Amino acid sequence: MIVDLRSDTVTRPTPAMREAMQRAPLGDDVFGDDPSVNALQEQIADMLGKEAALFMPSGTQSNLAGIMSHCGRGDEYIVGQGAHCYRYEAGGAAVLGSVQPQPLPNQPDGSLALADIEAAIKPDDEHFARSRLLALENTLGGKVLPLGYLAEATSLARERSLGTHLDGARLFNAAVAMGGDPRANARAIAGHFDSVSVCFSKGLGAPVGSALVGSKALVQRAHRWRKMLGGGLRQAGVLAAAAQHALAHHIDRLAEDHALALHLAQGLQGIKGLELQMPQTNILFVQVQGGRGQALLAHLKELGVLATGLSGLRFVTHLDVDRAGIDRAIAAVRGFFGEH
Ligand SMILES: *Cc1c(COP(=O)(O)O)cnc(C)c1O
Repeated sequence: MIVDLRSDTVTRPTPAMREAMQRAPLGDDVFGDDPSVNALQEQIADMLGKEAALFMPSGTQSNLAGIMSHCGRGDEYIVGQGAHCYRYEAGGAAVLGSVQPQPLPNQPDGSLALADIEAAIKPDDEHFARSRLLALENTLGGKVLPLGYLAEATSLARERSLGTHLDGARLFNAAVAMGGDPRANARAIAGHFDSVSVCFSKGLGAPVGSALVGSKALVQRAHRWRKMLGGGLRQAGVLAAAAQHALAHHIDRLAEDHALALHLAQGLQGIKGLELQMPQTNILFVQVQGGRGQALLAHLKELGVLATGLSGLRFVTHLDVDRAGIDRAIAAVRGFFGEH
């Protein structure tokens, strides 16, 4: 058995999820006729306290359609250097949206410094692109942005007439890690933003799909972009049913993924040659000293443990790994360093 810690995207639908997909009533969603897609969209909009939602084939397309619904040609969005929608989406906002990114350094806690945001907002002058949008990410690298910070950063954006978008691919990981009622937390996080993108295909364990939520007007604009980007799907209810099943059954259990990531970190503590950051959610980063990162990855792979990275390695826990798998990963890493 492979212990696949490359990403929380690698999960396979559970038998119960497959049954839900099998039973889903279907229609043609390009005609707006798929009852399962419509139900999912209503549900996620309602859960996050927004007027409307749009089912999207991927988080990348959801962020892109979101940014394009806020910004036009010659506008810019303020975003973190480490943000997915800047760094890992092939420059789509610039290439397809003609929207210029204004990247800012992410602070060690994943936030953007308020002073940096303030300084990056351009005056209305023909020399500059029009600053139109602040895009944040939560969790970012598995780190949870505090609600107080979200309130401050988004009020600053609003005072300066910028829209606000959250890449909440792992919104529910943040909501669970905050403690208390994760549904109330998710709603509180989303409440600070005009639009939020959330992934069903990460820790929630659905095979495919994301949603973009926001006002009716914003979602209407995104609907046109989604069609143009090739994201209009037909009997997408098989996928929406999986996402609905995930929302019903896989939110609270994210706490188990977080506990396993912590268990992994604790198991790797004290190894000479490794530097750990204690995980807040389901992602553990490990710095490997002495240029041995690739050798460690290869060693792990031979023992059936998969991770990603270069000198900084990333281990992600999810629905398809259990404590025995994590114990195997710990033993494999310790073995590499000659520690038992
Ligand atoms: C995975 C991810 C996305 C994009 O998701 P895809 O479905 O792979 O396109 C966007 N943002 C963040 C933070 C992600 O982790």
